Amino acid sequence: MISIAIDGPSGAGKSSLAKRLAAELGYVYVDTGAMYRAIGLYALRAGRNTKDAAAVAALLPDIRLDIRPGTGSQQILLNGEDVTEAVRAEAVGMAASDVSAHPAVRDYLLATQRGLAESRNVLMDGRDIGTVVLPHATVKIYLTATPEARARRRLAELLAKGQPADYDTVLADIRLRDDQDTHRAVAPLRRAEDAVLLDTSDIGIEESYALLKKTVQDRI
Ligand code: C5P
Repeated sequence: MISIAIDGPSGAGKSSLAKRLAAELGYVYVDTGAMYRAIGLYALRAGRNTKDAAAVAALLPDIRLDIRPGTGSQQILLNGEDVTEAVRAEAVGMAASDVSAHPAVRDYLLATQRGLAESRNVLMDGRDIGTVVLPHATVKIYLTATPEARARRRLAELLAKGQPADYDTVLADIRLRDDQDTHRAVAPLRRAEDAVLLDTSDIGIEESYALLKKTVQDRI
């Protein structure tokens, strides 16, 4: 089986590029961020402090996630409810970053994530895929961009969706999430030694896609 691990900070264009490449290669796309987001959403709805490891761990036995991976897309069900769209909210992203720091949450998702790559060709997108989830992935990519470049893109996306947003707030949010993701004790965001570094700060979406595709195709 071929597995492609794509890691990097939020807002580097990872998920849109990864989805497109998975569809073009005919591989199953696995969005691991959506799994952390679903747990974050559940904790928010339950009124728990998402930073409280024990409070979040206590919820895990009540959570059933069904991941329905597809070619270039993924549906996620939380206790039977389709939350694919609901997990995209900004507040859920921050809750996901909080809950993802708890070892119990990471353990809970690890087997599911590994299982998804066992019997099919996958392109898996996350923060620790090349370092922890699939350390023997066929290809590892670390896709990044400066916080400023990511904030500019995120702002444009939010404004295009008609959501009020300003650059400074978006940049501060990105920096906070980077800080949490890179400094946590378990599975912090970092480039695997054997991952190819792709920096999209100064290139547009089409050029980024061409670069990613060539980097992957040269290695599979
Ligand atoms: O990629 P996305 O923004 O959807 O991820 C949401 C949060 O989930 C990230 O900020 C990160 O903290 C966490 N995450 C993680 N490990 C992964 C994927 C996501 O810790 N493999």
